[in-house]
This record gives sequence, structure tokens and C-alpha cells, in this order.
Amino acid sequence: MTWKTVLSLIFFIIVIALLVFYWFIPLGETEFRIFGPGHSNFTLNSSTEESMQFYENLRYSESRISYRIEDCTLEKADEMKNAFKEIESKTVLNFYSVSNNEEILITCESKTRFEGEFFIAGEGGPTNITQAGDFNVIHNGGIILLRDSRCERPNIAIHELLHALGFDHSKNPENIMYEVSRCGQEIGQDSINVINELYSVPSLPDLTFENASASMKGRYLDISMVVRNNGLKNSENAKIIVYADEDSVKELEIEALPIGSGKLITLTNIFVLQTSVSEIKLSIDYNPEELKKENNIISLKVKS
Ligand SMILES: [Zn+2]
Repeated sequence: MTWKTVLSLIFFIIVIALLVFYWFIPLGETEFRIFGPGHSNFTLNSSTEESMQFYENLRYSESRISYRIEDCTLEKADEMKNAFKEIESKTVLNFYSVSNNEEILITCESKTRFEGEFFIAGEGGPTNITQAGDFNVIHNGGIILLRDSRCERPNIAIHELLHALGFDHSKNPENIMYEVSRCGQEIGQDSINVINELYSVPSLPDLTFENASASMKGRYLDISMVVRNNGLKNSENAKIIVYADEDSVKELEIEALPIGSGKLITLTNIFVLQTSVSEIKLSIDYNPEELKKENNIISLKVKS
């Protein structure tokens, strides 16, 4: 081997080493933070009417709500069914009977005890609620129908059904939601309006970024994010795409998310080709309909 060959070999090794260094070895560290309005929430008409419910914007996932009647006499069961018909005739809601996995359980057995803080008079209310975005989604409700109704209209069953739909007592003695039942009491038009407004929002999932941060060491990107379903329905599988200045640098699948639940995703050492990145974009790729699509993207920019 001549000294020339040795020199060029050394030179070659140095060049390769420099290239490796340039490409892979971390240089500076850059931090990114959320830029602009990434996630705005739903705004339903906020009015004093909302205080009619135990929580704000309480509703079931869909306007079609399932129920099951257990341990009731035919008379009591009829009373309950008439209460369903009455609410159906005045609102967008529909109730249907199922033999299991019901949303609302109606029982006439006094020994039955429902767990939950919304059983004001011990006779009706939501039993399982999940907060999702601006909604409080009722998964289950219960009614214990004990008292006999002596009115033409099944006032007691309607009263308990409205509790199960999330409504609290009214201070107005003429209102059916007044603590003491009387035959002349009416279903308040304000309650009907609240129901129709709440259920005017379609039962759809809403995947959104709740939080995100990113930092870059040299060419390596670390990202942390929370993806949450703030919608009214469980989501299906989705895909997260990470962009560094418009170039897709990472894709990953996330499994279905139930209403209100979130997933913390941490990605480390994503190799990025560019040396200086000014924007990291995170995007939720989800084809089915959602309440909102604009919150499926979040932009992170270099912390100044
Ligand atoms: Zn009550």
C-alpha cells in the first residue's frame, strides 16, 4: 500500500465520520410549544336553563335511548310506557325496550338500590356519567317506581324519567319537577327546549389533541401528546401523523377510544432529515364523521 492510498483511505474515513456526525449526532436542542387555537370546544347556548340539570349538558349518547322494565306490575309498566310516550311526543327523544344492556333500568322493587349521587328523592337519576368535552354523557340511569299515580297523566313516572334524563327539581309548584307531585303540574317548556337543544348535536365521536409538546435534539424528535375522544360516541381506530415542516416523519395507529377517554402517546428519537425545523404538526387521520374536524390538527412552533 502506497502512502497515497493510506492518506486517501484516512481522508475517506474522516469524511464518512463527519457525515455520520452531521446526520445522526445531536447538536442543539429545540423545544416546540402549541401555537394558535388547537382545540376549541363546543359552545351550546349557555343560559340559566342549564342549571335545571344536575350537571351542565347532561345527555345520553343518542336520542334513541334503551330501557328495561323489571319487577313491575302491568299497571306500573304501562304508566312508565305512557311517560315515555309523553316525552317522545314533546321532544326529539325516542325510547325503546331491550332485554339486556339497557341504558335506563326501571324497577318497581323497593329493595333495589342504585348507586349514585343523583338519586335526589331516591327514585330516579343518572347512575353513570362520563365527562367528554362540553358534555356530561349519561351511560346509565335508573328509576324506582314505587308510588301510585292517581293522575290522568303518569306524572310520577314522567318526573322520575326527567330525573333519569339529568333534570333536577324545580322550585315552581306548577312544574312537574317540583318535589311534591300534584296532578295539575306541567312539563316545563324550558325542560323540553333543553332536551331538544342538547340532542340536536349528533351522536358522533370527536377525536382531539388535549396536550402536546415536542423537542428536538439534533435530528431526533421527541413528542408527547394526549389524544382524547370528547365526543358523544366511541371512536374507531385512527392514525396519528407527525409532520416536520410539511414532511411526514412518523405515522402510528391508535385503537378505538371510548367516550371521554384519552391516550397518552410518547414518541422518542424520530429521525428528521432537516436540520432546522420551525413547525411540528400533529394530525389525527380519521375518516368517519366527527363532531369537529378542525381540532384534528395541532401546530407546535419553536419556543421563542
Ligand atoms: Zn324528584
